[in-house]
Amino acid sequence: MHNKLLVIFFFIVEIVLSQSLDPKVEIEIDMMLKSMSVEEKVGQMTQIALSVLEDKDKSTEGAFVFDEEKLRQALLQHHVGSILNTTGGAFSVEQWNAIITKIQDVALETDKKIPVIYGIDAIHGATFTKDATLFPHNIGLAATRNLDLVTKTAKITAMETRASGIRWDFDPVLDIGRQPLWPGFPETYGEDPYITTQMGKTAVEAYEGGGLDQPTSVASCMKHFIGYSGAASGKDRTPAYIPDVILREYYLPSFEEAIKSGASTIMINSASVNGVPIHGSHYYLTELLRDQLGFEGAVITDWEDVKRLHTRHLVAETPKEAVRMAVMAGIDMSMVPSDFSFYDYLVELVNEGKVPESRIDKSVRILLRLKHRLGLFKNPYPEKEAIANFGKSSYDDVALEAAHESIILLKNDQNALPLSKKEKVLVVGPTGDSHSALNGGWSFSWQGNIEENYPERYLTLIQAIEEKVGAKNVIHGSRFGFTNERNYDIEEFLREAKEVDRIILCLGEDAYSASPGVINDLTLPSEQLELAFRMIETGKPVVLVMIDGRPRIFDPIVQHIDGIVLANRPGSKGGEAIADVLFGDYNPNGVLPYSYPRHTGDIVFYDRKFLANVQQLKLGSITYHGYNPEWEFGHGLSYTTFAYSGLTLSSKNVKPGEDLKVKVKVTNTGDLDGKVAVDLYLSDLFASLSPSVKRLKRFQKVFLKRGETKELTFTLTTRDLEFYGPAHKWIYEPGAFKITIGTIETTFQLVLE
Ligand code: BGC
Repeated sequence: MHNKLLVIFFFIVEIVLSQSLDPKVEIEIDMMLKSMSVEEKVGQMTQIALSVLEDKDKSTEGAFVFDEEKLRQALLQHHVGSILNTTGGAFSVEQWNAIITKIQDVALETDKKIPVIYGIDAIHGATFTKDATLFPHNIGLAATRNLDLVTKTAKITAMETRASGIRWDFDPVLDIGRQPLWPGFPETYGEDPYITTQMGKTAVEAYEGGGLDQPTSVASCMKHFIGYSGAASGKDRTPAYIPDVILREYYLPSFEEAIKSGASTIMINSASVNGVPIHGSHYYLTELLRDQLGFEGAVITDWEDVKRLHTRHLVAETPKEAVRMAVMAGIDMSMVPSDFSFYDYLVELVNEGKVPESRIDKSVRILLRLKHRLGLFKNPYPEKEAIANFGKSSYDDVALEAAHESIILLKNDQNALPLSKKEKVLVVGPTGDSHSALNGGWSFSWQGNIEENYPERYLTLIQAIEEKVGAKNVIHGSRFGFTNERNYDIEEFLREAKEVDRIILCLGEDAYSASPGVINDLTLPSEQLELAFRMIETGKPVVLVMIDGRPRIFDPIVQHIDGIVLANRPGSKGGEAIADVLFGDYNPNGVLPYSYPRHTGDIVFYDRKFLANVQQLKLGSITYHGYNPEWEFGHGLSYTTFAYSGLTLSSKNVKPGEDLKVKVKVTNTGDLDGKVAVDLYLSDLFASLSPSVKRLKRFQKVFLKRGETKELTFTLTTRDLEFYGPAHKWIYEPGAFKITIGTIETTFQLVLE
């Protein structure tokens, strides 16, 4: 007996020391674990959707009513440890608080009194709370190149989520956007792993900063580990084929860094990589994630994905085998979410000795620790201090700032923009009077496409334009709602076009998320191209505003339009921000976080191998234009101009382990004040594994008054010079490297001695 206690004591001391945990809490968890039945433990690993607990007869649109019996059955009989999601739309803070209170009331009726952890997708603001402030999606934040905005928007999201009584946010998305067809693209930070890594880790720090028990924090959930965004076909939840060198160098760093920043939970990729479903893979979930990356937090499945090892992946012959497989692979909690099958099977499996109890103890320990860290054991109810943080007017200012910086001026020939406020404009197109286009998926509903769900204080683009230039100067061609058929009333627009000086053409995409957002073709839908051509044919100057979540191709009309603005799902203040850019009240500074393709069959990334440049389209004539997007990664114009000079290095010969300081001067050479995103690219000129043409290594956002010059400093380390080598490890090799900033470049050598 003494020996056993001693072993437990040393075990606790070991984890406490390795993870800097609270020893008192660890002892409490240990005692709790010892007193729990298998059923209670398995219940902790079970997550169900709120809809399972709904009294469908009594609930109405926007008002949730519990089925008392189902609630008690879930929490008291099945010992369910976690609940997620909403039942459709958004609830008010008061409604959420009532829901959470009721759940915790029942949870505390048990003798163990283990509170429930509620999880929600607060993807770009508190998605499912009425009147919350929504920010640009990640794709827009990546365009800002501004980490400060990531911090501010994530912190407000955390506060408005916690105000709702919810302490677990299934965000940030750390998948890289290298398949523009994939419907999750707008939720990514674009095609570059460095931006994804920096922004992802910044978001995690903002969500969790100050401690999870603070009323301003939520537990984050990195997702979707790993390779979700690499779907070969671009369809949601479909196979990816990712060579190990690419997985390590492109897909893994964002997770690696977020883990180092202390991210407390992770969600798993529903699909498969190289034929291996991640949910059933001991290699990915335990050897890679736990042993190699050192992740010690909670591993949660995605929606129904344990069952799908049987129903979709066909790697488990029975649903019960699927449960065994996923648990033995390393999942801690199953988002079941519509029944108790996971619970029933896992209890059986443990009782039959097919899953050792010690295995589930490991998961339950992690989950109880998370609940402790979140302060749920102290007070599981909505906290007064947290509620007081909801809906502050300053959040709208942050939303506007983020939206401003996320907007990209793609083309501005003949100074087509900004527009004069005195002219009369006709605004046409499906995104002109649409909240869903501005806000995208996860906005007051899963798909975000219910226009009526948006708060009154949110303005559509046309409302914002009218506010700015006066209703008398605007003809309302765009009709409310993206799907409104009258958005294609071309004959009427042709008549109206005669009365105006200019046409503002608003194209793009309706909101979507996951499978409903699947498309087969990146080309802009034909009715939108037709509308564009007919407007161009009027002979009136046309400016184009694209509001969408991924690069929809419209190459045939690009040459006919001088002014093109891209707004990547800019959020609640998107309408105002776009109007500010169009009419010169804001000087744009967003830059592309992805390569904007020109043709559907020509998706090449900026960090391609040099070989991808080489093309032989005609026999005997080789060209080097293999990277031929409509607009390159990093492209984005301003109403002022910037010049780069004085690119200097602290050394021309750098040794391993030495830092390299890079200095550059940026001057605002135009007539307007403005911000500029400064990207630093590194090219390894020769390497044993074909190097990329260039890789983004640092970025900074700076404000410069007209005529002003600032010197920026960047520090590179040996780690920045490394690549994942064929021998399956990170290596550096001596030789020449090139640094490019703006229009200028310089070289240095990595020398061994
Ligand atoms: C998505 C996840 C999300 C989950 C819960 C899934 O469909 O892939 O990103 O967190 O649903 O809503």
